[in-house]
Amino acid sequence: MAVTKTLITILFISSKLSNEMEEKLNPQFSGNRELAEPNVQIITSGGLRISAHSHILVSASPVLESMIERPQKHRSSQRNIPIPGVPCDAVSAFLQFLYSSKCSEEQMEKYGIHLLALSHVYLVPQLKQRCATGLSGKLTMDNVLDVLQLARLCDAPDLYLKCMKFLFCNFKAVEQTEGWKFLQNHDPWLELEILQFIDEAEKRKKRTRRKKEEQNLYLQLSEAMDCLEHICTEGCTSVGPYDMDPSKNKGPCSKFSTCHGLQLLIKHFAACKKRVNGGCLRCKRMWQLLRLHSSICDQPDECRVPLCRQFKLKIQQNRQGDDSRWRLLVKKVVSAKTISSLSLPKRKREEEYRITRMRIYLE
Ligand SMILES: [Zn+2]
Ligand SMILES: [Zn+2]
Ligand SMILES: [Zn+2]
Repeated sequence: MAVTKTLITILFISSKLSNEMEEKLNPQFSGNRELAEPNVQIITSGGLRISAHSHILVSASPVLESMIERPQKHRSSQRNIPIPGVPCDAVSAFLQFLYSSKCSEEQMEKYGIHLLALSHVYLVPQLKQRCATGLSGKLTMDNVLDVLQLARLCDAPDLYLKCMKFLFCNFKAVEQTEGWKFLQNHDPWLELEILQFIDEAEKRKKRTRRKKEEQNLYLQLSEAMDCLEHICTEGCTSVGPYDMDPSKNKGPCSKFSTCHGLQLLIKHFAACKKRVNGGCLRCKRMWQLLRLHSSICDQPDECRVPLCRQFKLKIQQNRQGDDSRWRLLVKKVVSAKTISSLSLPKRKREEEYRITRMRIYLE
């Protein structure tokens, strides 16, 4: 019953489409009603015969073209083309696509795998693309291995990658399926391929995470540089320039967690008896921050950060200490600074400071 219904649908579609398509595909035949008659029989593995128009098949698939144009032993008006190996309804859906370039969601759901195979065998790239997209949206624990194998056989790289990513994200669950056990027993090469992909994806993920952490560190350093300038220029809460009245110190600023840490470090640096050469780690860190500031600072003459000019002078006198690792650090902090200033325009940052200050005055 279903088969008859499909046959009728196909015939209906072909007679409806043949006129317009004929004009498009074979302009020399337009208007010639006799050529609109079906002249090819598609024979499916279920024994179903579907009538079709050779010129439509020829224009849609180079493989069908060579089959149709191959010389026949017995001259007869109709050609038989077998399309075996897939369900009859999948062949119907395939033919419907050749006529209309369309394929319903329901057909994709039911015959997506078969249509992908047909589109590959008969070289119909638009259908192949449609199937790759359709199937990649319908991956499940139970079908992913079948789809992967087919994507590999049919040379559909996008779909192959989607399947691999799906496996990477759901491997614990897929490992429990019958499909995985079957694959382990029958296709160890594919098993190896999958495990290798998962391993590399894992490594890639780790690399990205490490890079992110590194970038975060440079961002923190760049933020510390902003705070250092801001403390030394305008003052913040309890720390400010020596010649500024402490009661006029601004703050707390928008980056107070960083700023406060830096203020504690500055206070320590000013009072510590051990100092850098005495081996104090906190002083050493402050020293490095001041040196880093100097390497970044582009206005040493007006700069109010302690030791800024002295460090610059030292670098000019002898390039000792200005080693390549240090230069790389400076470069990375500068680029982190650029990135953070791009994500939050300077004007807005200043606005934030001003708002904080105003609030304090109003209170
Ligand atoms: Zn501050
Ligand atoms: Zn110290
Ligand atoms: Zn400076």
